[in-house]
Amino acid sequence: MISEEEARKKILETVRSLPSRRLSLSQALGCFAAEDYFARLPLPAFDNSAMDGYAVVASSCAKGKRLRVTAEQPAGRDKQLRVSPGEAIRIFTGAPMPQGADAIVMQEDVTRDGDEIVVNTDVEAGEFVRRRACDLSEGQKILAKGERLRAATIALLASQGISDLTVGGEVNAAILSTGDELVKPGEKLDLGQIYESNSALLGALLHRCGAAVNFLEHCRDERESLRKAIKRGMKNHILIISGGVSVGEHDLVKDILREVGAEIEIWRVAIKPGKPFLFGRMQQSKPSPHSSPSARERRTRSAGKSSVPDAECLVFGLPGNPVSAFVTFLQFVRPAILKMMGATTLDLPQVPARLAVNLTNEGDRAHYIRGKLEQGTFTPVGRQESHALFGLSQSNALLRLDLGQSLKAEEIVDVQIWDW
Ligand code: AMP
Ligand code: MG
Repeated sequence: MISEEEARKKILETVRSLPSRRLSLSQALGCFAAEDYFARLPLPAFDNSAMDGYAVVASSCAKGKRLRVTAEQPAGRDKQLRVSPGEAIRIFTGAPMPQGADAIVMQEDVTRDGDEIVVNTDVEAGEFVRRRACDLSEGQKILAKGERLRAATIALLASQGISDLTVGGEVNAAILSTGDELVKPGEKLDLGQIYESNSALLGALLHRCGAAVNFLEHCRDERESLRKAIKRGMKNHILIISGGVSVGEHDLVKDILREVGAEIEIWRVAIKPGKPFLFGRMQQSKPSPHSSPSARERRTRSAGKSSVPDAECLVFGLPGNPVSAFVTFLQFVRPAILKMMGATTLDLPQVPARLAVNLTNEGDRAHYIRGKLEQGTFTPVGRQESHALFGLSQSNALLRLDLGQSLKAEEIVDVQIWDW
């Protein structure tokens, strides 16, 4: 049994980033930038009005003053107008500032009288003017390599006229659930059977990470069908097998993985829940020496050092208990996927929280407590056992208790937000 830190280190040392790809902006949400991006345009790109109103020379305005309206400047075409003291130009939100104007008077603050206005307020220079580059300067970094593309980032890139960009590769994932007792939701349960829920869990978690689920199968605890299913599933970048990695006679996964040529790098980690976790790597079907590489292989090879050979499949064997599968996915599989996708930040978001109760870990494994973080307080919820799916469903955060660690109520602790 190795420590959680060792396991994570080993996994992340093995994982390589996938070759980058070009995507349109509209497809890039949740991907990671494969290079730095810099502003081509300042924001705002030119001085413009923040209001519908009148562009004026502030020093020639005062409450009660009359100004002559000389022209109109709508948004969309710069008429290159000029305004002089005693004059006003009718202007609209986003329209370029006329030369000579240094303030906008809101239309609500004037009384229109033919081709004149009466100003009903005092006016200060700069009022309701959006200055060129006050938000963003040309050349400023707008997106760092490895940063996730969020809605606002995508909008920012669009505001720069960028319609497509280079992002990290997409991870193809296979999910294989095992167990004779499991029945697909929607089908009839017999005595002793339970519904198979890990595929739903892992599919959802993979989706949240941005991985594509290319393969989803269930297999009985039977050698031959398991071997065939593993061989089908290992055509992907990662294969996640749920169940069958423990020590019972029906836990066949480890043996069969060895039979199909996998190198088991990790089996059993000092983590609770999740001890029987397994990590390995295997080659997908090797091309014969005379066969020419596929287009995909050529792409991968030419992408150089940062690429994982496409022919390699990383296999994660997760314990079948739902909470164990959940915790080991988040601590081991998620960071691996994010690294493959080119992300810089691999950890779950952490926030400080006030602990509601005393907690002690007397065991020999790091313990992940499921809890609810609400208004800055973390309270354990539900049964802290690896089968307790309802308890897990009530939680939104995890607290890691190290071996031998004791925490007191009211202490400030860091908790991981899993509902990120
Ligand atoms: P195993 O890791 O195969 O020994 O399974 C441990 C426990 O998790 C058993 O109680 C199984 O019934 C349960 N389990 C295994 N796989 C699943 C699954 N896909 N969905 C729900 N429960 C499961
Ligand atoms: Mg099983």
